[in-house]
Amino acid sequence: MRIAEPWRLEETEWRRLVGRVRAGRALRPQRWPNSARCAVAFSFDCDHETFELGAGGTAIGRLAWGEFGRRVGTPRILDVLQRHGVPATFFMPAVCALIDPDETRRIVAAGHEVGLHGWIHENNSRLDAPTERDLILRARDVLEKTIGATPVGFRSANWDLSPHTVALVAEMGLEYDSSLMADESCYELLLDGEPTGVVEVPVEWLRDDAVYLMFNREPATRPWTPPDSVFEIFRRELDAAWNEGGLFQLVMHPFVIGYRSRIWILEQLIEHAKAKGGAWFGTHAAVARWARGHGGVSSQAGSGPGKP
Ligand SMILES: [Zn+2]
Repeated sequence: MRIAEPWRLEETEWRRLVGRVRAGRALRPQRWPNSARCAVAFSFDCDHETFELGAGGTAIGRLAWGEFGRRVGTPRILDVLQRHGVPATFFMPAVCALIDPDETRRIVAAGHEVGLHGWIHENNSRLDAPTERDLILRARDVLEKTIGATPVGFRSANWDLSPHTVALVAEMGLEYDSSLMADESCYELLLDGEPTGVVEVPVEWLRDDAVYLMFNREPATRPWTPPDSVFEIFRRELDAAWNEGGLFQLVMHPFVIGYRSRIWILEQLIEHAKAKGGAWFGTHAAVARWARGHGGVSSQAGSGPGKP
């Protein structure tokens, strides 16, 4: 929803808009599992063919680009993670799980988490409430049937949320969302000022491979940042998280990171974290659970109208 003349909003109205979803209780553990000082949480958004379909596109070439993610990217990622014994979270649109259920099952069989990522990578902010509800429930059914377990986490496609998304996530009893960016540490989501019980595992565009490495013909988008520089940005984020005893969370895509000239970024990040010592690698679900159970910090200053 866009507002034509935002300067005409009444104070009650802009307060309502800002206060709809807000950061509540900060969840910053003093220590991570195994007495680690820092947590490393990798996520891979398996958009594949739905990156094109969910945006309303039907281009054969771009569908093949998604197919590369499925055929080459995911296996390469699984190989790196397996060689280093690192668990991760794969967010899977339901249509991608239906196109190749074996991929989703292979991911789970390798010890990783699969989370919800919409029905067809749709933009939630464009959906009316009943449609959004229907799609997320159907997506959960598909993943449940595919992996034989209920997913506990959600990431909205392109991090576009509607005013109803967080309410749906809470209603479904999901443990966490990973689509928002009000902090670098986990926090509890507030909805209209009320605690939801949903942990946010925050994302950031600057910790997303697609921001630096995506190519588009129209509108013309070029990967201006060389892979070495992308690694450098991620490494600095990791080092700072380690220094602070915090969380280093990263978003990658099989059709973006899964190329010969880029997959090393993932491998070197793992090697770097291991060489520093004291880094714990966890799925997003494991991070959310640990943060919820060991957060131990009272609410942040300035967290808004519904501060508990
Ligand atoms: Zn996605």
